[in-house]
Amino acid sequence: MSEIKGKVLSVTGNMVAGDFAGDIMQNEVAHIIKDGKRLKAEVIKIKNNTAYMQVFENTKGIKAGDGIEYSGKMLSVRLGPGILSQIYDGLQNPLPEMAKAFGIFLPIGEEIAPLAMEKIWEFTPLKKTGEIVSRGDVLGFVPEGIFKHKIMVPFNFTEEYEIKKISAKGRYAVKEEIAVIKGQDGKEISLTMSFDWPVKYPITAYKEKLKPSDALVTRIRVIDTFFPVAKGGTYCIPGPFGAGKTVMQQITSRHAEVDIVIIAACGERAGEVVETLTEFPFLKDPRTGRTLMERTIIICNTSSMPVSARESSVYTAATLAEYYRQMGLNVLLLADSTSRWAQAMREISGRLEEIPGEEAYPAYLESRIASFYERAGLVRLKDGEVGSLTIGGTVSPAGGNFEEPVTQGTLKVVGAFHGLSRARSDARKFPSIDPLESWSKYKSFIAEENVKLAKEILFKGAEVNQMMKVVGEEGTTVEDYVVYLKAEFLDNVYLQQNGFDDVDAATIKERQEYVFNVVCKILKKRFSFSSKDDARKFFYELRHNFIDWNYKEWQTEAFKKQEKIIAGSIAG
Ligand code: ADP
Ligand code: MG
Repeated sequence: MSEIKGKVLSVTGNMVAGDFAGDIMQNEVAHIIKDGKRLKAEVIKIKNNTAYMQVFENTKGIKAGDGIEYSGKMLSVRLGPGILSQIYDGLQNPLPEMAKAFGIFLPIGEEIAPLAMEKIWEFTPLKKTGEIVSRGDVLGFVPEGIFKHKIMVPFNFTEEYEIKKISAKGRYAVKEEIAVIKGQDGKEISLTMSFDWPVKYPITAYKEKLKPSDALVTRIRVIDTFFPVAKGGTYCIPGPFGAGKTVMQQITSRHAEVDIVIIAACGERAGEVVETLTEFPFLKDPRTGRTLMERTIIICNTSSMPVSARESSVYTAATLAEYYRQMGLNVLLLADSTSRWAQAMREISGRLEEIPGEEAYPAYLESRIASFYERAGLVRLKDGEVGSLTIGGTVSPAGGNFEEPVTQGTLKVVGAFHGLSRARSDARKFPSIDPLESWSKYKSFIAEENVKLAKEILFKGAEVNQMMKVVGEEGTTVEDYVVYLKAEFLDNVYLQQNGFDDVDAATIKERQEYVFNVVCKILKKRFSFSSKDDARKFFYELRHNFIDWNYKEWQTEAFKKQEKIIAGSIAG
């Protein structure tokens, strides 16, 4: 470790400028020494022999002349078995352990090991002495929950190495040596089950990146059928305050068909993060019946944490997500809200006195957003397995105006856009994804022509609705009125979904295909109503029967019975 030292020159908020003698790096970790305490910081700019550091803690009391130690190491996370089901802050401090040790108010300068290094895992080697390996190659595995956690050659090992020693099947602590490898220079390197990786660098220890194609089934009908997300793809959920972004991500985290969910919570409301932390650990996984937390990692910003820690949390989340993708798993990263992250960037940029771009965000805002979403992807790993990382981020533009830099920058890079509408959430139409504004570049598992037909009816229905506002219902033909009723029907029974009903909250693929077929039959049917009243009565009843159907468990007697009632009413 380097021994480069320096002194504080000035302090502006959480930004500290300091001098140094020797070579230091962008993004390396430094510590400000204050009354014997070590305050963690990251070097974010080096100019004219001055290092600008963002300090991850309260800088109160720091003054010119205080000591600085430059670590020579990038801001990193610790990778290894035991990350699943953890709740970390943006710097990978385990929050429950922190709270146990220190109470709610974390003392300045305290850190706790991100992984339990003493914890014992059952290791099974997959390689033998004499074999040649390189970064990302799998040396063995340990079971972690229901998954096989691969123990790999660290990703920053750029050469080929010969295995000199590898532990036999057995129980080992994370910190114990499990292999010794020899590099080209003849030096032997001891490996444990854990290693560090710098958060701002994507993990690329795979064979190739593939084009996302398969749908990631979220079990939210409006998404899967109309605006699908692909495994390894990206999507964003912009929406005004209170439109349902956070609830939507919570529902997704419970029901989406993925192996692992990573939640990066940068809460908008003070209580929101606490809610996540107190509720989530007790939730049952609706698919496995085990606890949801076993396959979840939460990265969480408490409101007392400075902006810089908030900025690092999305990188920490992305790195942990990429790591589990290396296991050949399907990982979903949900970031809520990326606007908070962008605001942190804006504050930091302001303190660096950089030339501001639009709305005072830094000029590099778009490229930062792009490089975050680029960490998603479907990859073929070195052992032939395929893993995916899907990223979904919420954006909370002030006043719900999507014409602002963060929303626009995000829309340029993501594969799907789920725009939430205030009008829909005010009308309690949930999920409040606007079917007229949203889009997706990915392929749905539902037949394309049926999706097209349904969208056309939604658009036409909206037109008729607009017209009726002008000319009144009397001025509308029965034909047009039926189009409007069909659109309303589709919205009520299919787009909307009751997130608080055990059955309706999540619709599996087979059921979506099945039910959507019936919906389309109705949308296609030429009805002959004698009056608008007749039409209204008919659709009113149909809607009720259909919503009741949505509440029946798939393929039960009750489901089939309800289906017959619906079939009867649309026959003839
Ligand atoms: P945002 O994160 O966009 O600010 P929230 O997700 O916190 O908004 O939602 C605000 C409120 O709207 C919730 O507290 C809840 O009452 C209601 N809500 C949001 N989504 C749903 C839903 N799917 N079903 C029922 N109510 C919802
Ligand atoms: Mg929210």
